Amino acid sequence: MSPVNGPVLSIVGARPQFIKLAPVHTALREGRLQHVIVHTGQHYDDDMSARFFRELKLPTPNINLGVKGGGHAVPTARMLMRIARTIEELKPALLIVYGDTTSTLAGALAGAQCGTRVAHVESGLRSYLRTQPEERNRVVADHLSTLLFAPTTSAVENLLREGISGGVHRVGDPMHDALSNWWPTASRRSLQIEADPFYFCTVHRAENTDDAQRLSRLLHLLAGLDAPVLMPLHPRTRRAFRRAGLLKKLQSLTPVQVCEPLGYLDTLRHIGGAAAVLTDSGGVQREAAWLGTYCLTLRSVTEWVETVEDGRNVLIDLDLDRARAALDRRPRRRRPKTSGTNASRRIAAIIRKAL
Ligand code: UDP
Repeated sequence: MSPVNGPVLSIVGARPQFIKLAPVHTALREGRLQHVIVHTGQHYDDDMSARFFRELKLPTPNINLGVKGGGHAVPTARMLMRIARTIEELKPALLIVYGDTTSTLAGALAGAQCGTRVAHVESGLRSYLRTQPEERNRVVADHLSTLLFAPTTSAVENLLREGISGGVHRVGDPMHDALSNWWPTASRRSLQIEADPFYFCTVHRAENTDDAQRLSRLLHLLAGLDAPVLMPLHPRTRRAFRRAGLLKKLQSLTPVQVCEPLGYLDTLRHIGGAAAVLTDSGGVQREAAWLGTYCLTLRSVTEWVETVEDGRNVLIDLDLDRARAALDRRPRRRRPKTSGTNASRRIAAIIRKAL
């Protein structure tokens, strides 16, 4: 078992994890916990990685494991070996993993195999579709963790259904803390699209990108909208459009303004300024909800069921008719709820007590 006086290690590797990490890092430091940031290398381009450390005023990761590249099995195996080696060297008291990526899975597995306690931030979310890599990653991480930080009541209920009740804490959502910290700055940024109104669109999930037919349906959907769309392209999505021979078609669609991935602050600004958001991102669905912007989710299920129950997030999959119908009955904008839930401070306090 790991010593109680070792550091707390955060394992991160992908864009949404850097955003979740930022408020948790601050809270751990405020709680006087020694915190070591380990970057697996999963996202490595400046605009998917280093930019977020600069924008969110995070220190450069203490360790970068340099595991670049897509796929699942090979990067998971490489990360597993390198995280295990890091654990042997640093003897951490606890490992924190975030969300549902390959880095989450490898971190949880390495911690469990090395006998180090694991805490999972954003625990208990379920789509109940095991074909999705995110679902497999989060299920395994939850079952290997001893501290499970659930953002919502439904997440706690999901864990209970799987027989997990010990170590579960409903703490709220660190992403809301990040938004709360950064919205005052983000709201002053300028828009990168002149049209008013406009829609904001992000797509990156394998279930949409890894299927040329679904990419065609997405093009059809975007072309049929009644206002211009700003669409920052995730590198995986750009590659997928190129592979399917559809990138030029996307770039020449009149209503769509394609751009490189945006930074966090610009993304919040555009979510907050858009007439509606179209996305398959978990983070963007919640940010739209907090910023009072109507959301059309480009999937048939969501883990963030509360946003749908609230009537402000509609699951349209990639169906243009459903998109039009949802936009026709869109509710009025709501005032943003930009003050966070203090989830990160709760997480730090629980970790401190547990150590
Ligand atoms: N995001 C960003 N730039 C973009 C698109 C998204 O900074 O061009 C942010 C977004 O505001 C949210 C996070 O990235 O905080 C969501 O990450 P992503 O969609 O990659 O993953 P998911 O949330 O689906 O796990």
